[in-house]
Amino acid sequence: MPGRLILACNGYGGNAAMVRAHMPAIGDALYFGHPGNRGDALAWGQVLGAATRHLGAYQGHGNVAHPHGILITWAVIGEGGFQVNAEGRRFWNESQGYSEAARAVLAEPGGIAWAVFDERCAGVARQFADFRAAEAQGAIRRADSVEALAGAMGVPGPALAESFAGAQGTDAFGRRFDPARRLAPPYCAVKVTGALFHTQGGLVTDGGGRVLRPDGTALPNLWAGGGAACGVSGAGDSGYLSGNGLLAAVVLGARAGAAGG
Ligand SMILES: Cc1cc2nc3c(=O)[nH]c(=O)nc-3n(C[C@H](O)[C@H](O)[C@H](O)COP(=O)(O)OP(=O)(O)OC[C@H]3O[C@@H](n4cnc5c(N)ncnc54)[C@H](O)[C@@H]3O)c2cc1C
Repeated sequence: MPGRLILACNGYGGNAAMVRAHMPAIGDALYFGHPGNRGDALAWGQVLGAATRHLGAYQGHGNVAHPHGILITWAVIGEGGFQVNAEGRRFWNESQGYSEAARAVLAEPGGIAWAVFDERCAGVARQFADFRAAEAQGAIRRADSVEALAGAMGVPGPALAESFAGAQGTDAFGRRFDPARRLAPPYCAVKVTGALFHTQGGLVTDGGGRVLRPDGTALPNLWAGGGAACGVSGAGDSGYLSGNGLLAAVVLGARAGAAGG
């Protein structure tokens, strides 16, 4: 069987110029992947005449402890927490998801926000080593009252109190809060920013990893998988579902590897 050329050197998250060009809303975000992912597969494929798609698609994360650079699991939000900006005010519907959160947080003053939750949420988050590391580094502030928490965060107390009061029922942003998960003291807060985890756009394949030209015909002996190929997340940040990154790597990689020569 003749050899196969399979491009498997990920996407372009480490290429700042490409990130700025294709995903300007998070153009200056921290990149959480490997800096060597500079879009080589994409560039090589394009030179060979391959089609590309959804170059603005990506997995972001809007809950990275700042300036510690440690991922804070989105479970603290899913368990009833919320985000406020540097003025202590809510600014979006967090139930849209952690990928969209990167864009939402970076649009706020200073490109930062605070994730606000309670000790019960922290107990859930503590099963993740990242969260324990954030605690060990002092990233998580704690207080027994909303007023004291505002002081620990350095945000205006009345605004934070208003944010707490609004975080019930269906709020002004359309988020529905579960009454069983209403925050209770002791409260916790961590300053966060938005990050790019990986890009989801790339070379167009036939679903089996075979790279296609713009007219839909296959290039001879060229396959792509993982971040080198266009994934299944659509055009921006909102189509990303947990697992989509590894899905493109495992499925397209396996199919490219098994393809006839
Ligand atoms: C912090 C973080 C969290 C993530 N969480 C999830 C998750 O929960 N679920 C999920 O599905 N996905 C997640 N992802 C995305 C997932 O890790 C990637 O989509 C997946 O690893 C891509 O696989 P790949 O084989 O394309 O690239 P990689 O696994 O990155 O492998 C590519 C390899 O190619 C090498 N390389 C690059 N350029 C060259 C070159 N020119 N020549 C030779 N070698 C080169 C790289 O050094 C690397 O070793 C996450 C990513 C990050 C950064």
